[in-house]
Amino acid sequence: MADLLSLNIKELNSAIEQMGEKKFRAKQLYDWLHNKLVWDYGEMNNLPKELRRKLSKEYPLPYIEEVQRLQSKLDGTNKFLFKLKDDNIIESVIMQYKHGNSVCISSQAGCRMGCYFCASALGGLVRNLEPSEMLLQVYNIQRITGKRVSHVVVMGTGEPFDNFDNLLKFMEILNSEQGLNISGRNVTVSTCGLVEGIRKFADRKLSATLAISLHAPTDDMRRRLMPVANRYSIEDILEACRYFIEKTGRRVTFEYSMVQGYNDSEEHAKMLSDLLKGMLCHVNLIPVNPIKERDYKQSEPERIERFRSILEKNHVNVTVRRTLGADINSSCGQLRRSYADR
Ligand code: SF4
Repeated sequence: MADLLSLNIKELNSAIEQMGEKKFRAKQLYDWLHNKLVWDYGEMNNLPKELRRKLSKEYPLPYIEEVQRLQSKLDGTNKFLFKLKDDNIIESVIMQYKHGNSVCISSQAGCRMGCYFCASALGGLVRNLEPSEMLLQVYNIQRITGKRVSHVVVMGTGEPFDNFDNLLKFMEILNSEQGLNISGRNVTVSTCGLVEGIRKFADRKLSATLAISLHAPTDDMRRRLMPVANRYSIEDILEACRYFIEKTGRRVTFEYSMVQGYNDSEEHAKMLSDLLKGMLCHVNLIPVNPIKERDYKQSEPERIERFRSILEKNHVNVTVRRTLGADINSSCGQLRRSYADR
């Protein structure tokens, strides 16, 4: 059965026309679904009753249900666990910044990429999320918190380029004028480095930000943290990033989780600078969040600062990511994991 919430306006037009209805009904319906955020046909009072009855019968709407919400007392970060129609659990977060409210969403239930430091990887991939299930994370959070979402980061559970078509449809609907109209510039897609995905994404020439989870300055070190490094070398990834920059004119963000005594020395900082020197990019240093299943620790603040200053001295743009929601299981996939354990 078609999932109307995953359809763009053109596809919704044809679905409505096939039901023998006038085109403008599709526009009204789209407005309810993606702007007013109402997903109960009964409440769509500018649609004829007969159409509402037909829609409920032929197109039951997807939903996600809030099962847990944790609110940080430190900084207003809220973390949500949502249950999908088939009982899978996914995790999403809203963070407040000076520039607006940013929601971090999941693109898959589980993940097959197996990154060593990631709680989401522990149970493997369960399934891809539909565009509607990605949208519903943003929509529900806006409705529940009453806060207008201005930025979206696809950085929760899942590898977005492993669910490429659904990701693009999600971005298209999110960006549509008749929907929440969140500009592509305010959307960040974070990948562990799937080279074909980066190139395909570049070819679409969207204005979104591309973030790469790099985490190590050599292939050997990276392989120990991320199995995907056995498929793609750092050089392959950087080449794909240069292609992205050439196609879009947008800078690339490199995420670098700082693990105590592993990838945080001065030498590592110099190696990373050599890799990225001259590239239109930005490095985000992330004090890694320990998870109980693994035995690594976060780098000390002085070491992170030293690392940062070496990059800066080498003219690489760099910031240290502020830790948000430190009091609420803030590491990616951690809350979902503890829910599953229970
Ligand atoms: S860090 Fe991202 S890509 Fe890696 S296992 Fe976790 S969710 Fe998957």
